[in-house]
Amino acid sequence: MKKTLVVIGGGAAGFFCAVNAARLHDDLRVVILEKTGKLLSKVKVSGGGRCNVTHDCQSVSELVGHYPRGASFLKKAFLHFSVKDTITWFEERGVELKIEKDGRMFPVTDNSETIMRCLLDDAARYGVEIMLNTELENVELKSNSAESQSQTSFILTLSRERTIEADFICLASGGVQKLEKLDWLKNLGHDIHPTYPSLFTFNIKGSGIQELMGVSLDSAVVKIMGTKHKLQGPALITHWGLSGPVVLKLSAWGALDLAELGYDFKIVVNWIPEYNEQKVLDMLRVVRFEKASQKINNRNPFDLPSRLWEYLLVQSGIQPELRWADLPAKSQNLLAKMLCNQEFHVQGKTTFKEEFVTAGGVGLEQINPATMESKTQKNLFFAGEVLNIDGVTGGFNFQNAWTTGWIAASAISQTEKQQ
Ligand SMILES: Cc1cc2nc3c(=O)[nH]c(=O)nc-3n(C[C@H](O)[C@H](O)[C@H](O)COP(=O)(O)OP(=O)(O)OC[C@H]3O[C@@H](n4cnc5c(N)ncnc54)[C@H](O)[C@@H]3O)c2cc1C
Repeated sequence: MKKTLVVIGGGAAGFFCAVNAARLHDDLRVVILEKTGKLLSKVKVSGGGRCNVTHDCQSVSELVGHYPRGASFLKKAFLHFSVKDTITWFEERGVELKIEKDGRMFPVTDNSETIMRCLLDDAARYGVEIMLNTELENVELKSNSAESQSQTSFILTLSRERTIEADFICLASGGVQKLEKLDWLKNLGHDIHPTYPSLFTFNIKGSGIQELMGVSLDSAVVKIMGTKHKLQGPALITHWGLSGPVVLKLSAWGALDLAELGYDFKIVVNWIPEYNEQKVLDMLRVVRFEKASQKINNRNPFDLPSRLWEYLLVQSGIQPELRWADLPAKSQNLLAKMLCNQEFHVQGKTTFKEEFVTAGGVGLEQINPATMESKTQKNLFFAGEVLNIDGVTGGFNFQNAWTTGWIAASAISQTEKQQ
């Protein structure tokens, strides 16, 4: 009799596992359970509707550096399926990916529906069954033989009082929202780590910075005070505070600390990372001498966006009409501080519209990265964001979904052939 794989979750990871398992083993019945009425809904909205499929990063050691949680686990997993495999996999199905300047990879169509179509077509081609509006509620073991765990199968309780039997399960239910929904998994010996958001921007009130909305910098250094988290990268000022890649990355690396601080903390910004306060003072001394008769707001020695320069002058109590020769030493010191060490009070976060993820979830300690199989329960597999793995923005979260989904599929098809 045909064996059954039930995949829980109709997202990127669930689909990747299902279509590959069905393709690699045509004698396996593959069913996807999806609790909502929609499939691949995150793929659709991802990357602003373009789907940032992966990141142009061929070296595994470099790639894992983009995952605040799960890096050492992924180091082993990427040996089996990495960025190059993702590109080839989609290429073999007629989906060409392009690389943007910052390394992010998108379908050449710039349309996430290309990725959805590809996965849906493969599911149809290999006969994957899909049950929509079907939520997994519980899992119990059905031991066919008291002695042999290899004969274990599962009875899954579903919404609307239905059940389904499975020989294999792949849990790909995405970021964990309610920990109690995974009690069955805890009972099978798995740790579930508390979850908290990652990839958000910082809300800053009362500093006047919002008036600079739209100002962007190629490079700024942002440090979270009282922590070790400090990063340099492009920054963007928004109408609610500070955003841009440097802030999003910082929110990911500092996700746990920031959750513990209740999203109420201070940051220090250096708007000109190539300078420190002393270097700024040296530079200002030269400018004062050489441009003595010029007005301060006409001469921006650091090539900062002019709106930011004027804002920093105001914050330092300097009248823009003042001539360089008349700049008091106290104001000069304050300006150097504002340029290199401006403090802001962050109160709250805003989720980035392009991408956000859940940190925490199913612990990696009880999972084998070479197969994605549970170490405590045979024939139980995992894929995607349900795991305690998350990456920064740039295509790394989907790469996790493709890698873990593919490994689970390949291991399931091999196990099924051996049994
Ligand atoms: C707005 C947005 C944009 C993003 N853009 C990008 C991007 O461009 N690049 C990138 O790399 N990452 C992006 N991400 C992150 C990426 O989308 C996720 O990391 C990825 O989709 C995770 O895939 P998954 O299959 O593990 O989980 P999901 O996509 O969340 O899928 C899980 C599915 O399981 C279903 N489910 C949950 N519980 C049950 C249950 N008990 N029974 C049945 N079904 C269940 C859910 O309804 C869901 O459909 C973005 C995220 C968001 C929110």
